[in-house]
Amino acid sequence: MTRIDGHTILIGLMAYPIRHSMSPTMHNTAFEALNLNYAYLAFDIDGDQLADGVKAIRTLDMRGSNVSMPNKQAIIPHLDKLDISAKMTGAVNTVVNDDGVLTGYTTDGVGFVNDLKKKGHDVAGKKMLVVGAGGAGIPIAAQSAIEGASEIRIANRKDGHFENAEDIAKSINENSGAVASTFALEDEDAFKEALNWADIYVDATGVGMKPLEGKSLVEDPSWLKEDLVIYDTVYAPRTTKLMEVAKDAGVKNVYNGLGMMIEQGAAAFKLWTGQDMPIDLVEQAMAEKDKEK
Ligand code: NAD
Repeated sequence: MTRIDGHTILIGLMAYPIRHSMSPTMHNTAFEALNLNYAYLAFDIDGDQLADGVKAIRTLDMRGSNVSMPNKQAIIPHLDKLDISAKMTGAVNTVVNDDGVLTGYTTDGVGFVNDLKKKGHDVAGKKMLVVGAGGAGIPIAAQSAIEGASEIRIANRKDGHFENAEDIAKSINENSGAVASTFALEDEDAFKEALNWADIYVDATGVGMKPLEGKSLVEDPSWLKEDLVIYDTVYAPRTTKLMEVAKDAGVKNVYNGLGMMIEQGAAAFKLWTGQDMPIDLVEQAMAEKDKEK
């Protein structure tokens, strides 16, 4: 890493556990390719260390940091400002340090919308069904509303997250032009009706990845219409059971969450550097890193 010198600016990733993350590979590949004098490092920071971690952003004059669990909500009181994406979702995954002023953003939703756009689907004017109101589903619903989705139904099973679904629906109705509503996933008729009603169906539950690999909320292909756009936020495995069921149903536009993961990083990269991430190079570097595992 000869490019590191006395002027190199640090960007962090604060979460616990975090050493498995692909984000350092993603960002450092992009810095190197664009000859930007930044370095991105992961730090194991849990809830007790978070205040010191944020202090370090200021003290070390870092350009910013990504934040993941368990710090996404807890960091908010430590920041100076919140972007609308962070205000609506009540969570932050990216911090930008502008001369000591720390602003929080959530780029997961932008990542989803941008990835879908690249695949030829604009959320503007669309009817969306988002299942799962957790770390992925909430920003997806919020950003889709910000970007002009007409109606969003948010479904969750009746567990501790159901309240999150109601909260984000309320926030969407108050802060955007979209109309949001919720239903319980246990209501199978409502689920089937919503699948038939929607233009875009997002599964943000994690069903289909470990420990639920091989499982899908939709097992019967007849529940899916051919022109539905289906987006599964899971990216490991690359093909989930839902995606297989969708193919059996003849659905043409079926995607996993890899593009969203890369695009959320690209959105953070743009906030820190003002530059577009070289996505093809980053994908290549991540695939190589994957093979090493
Ligand atoms: P989370 O735990 O915050 O939320 C999970 C949601 O799914 C909750 O609303 C929960 O009620 C629901 N759920 C969980 N198990 C369920 C089941 N068996 N049946 C029905 N509903 C169920 O998790 P998260 O951080 O939102 O992650 C969800 C998925 O999204 C994971 O697969 C994760 O890898 C993926 N994800 C992808 C990206 C990306 O960039 N592609 C980003 C974040 C998360």
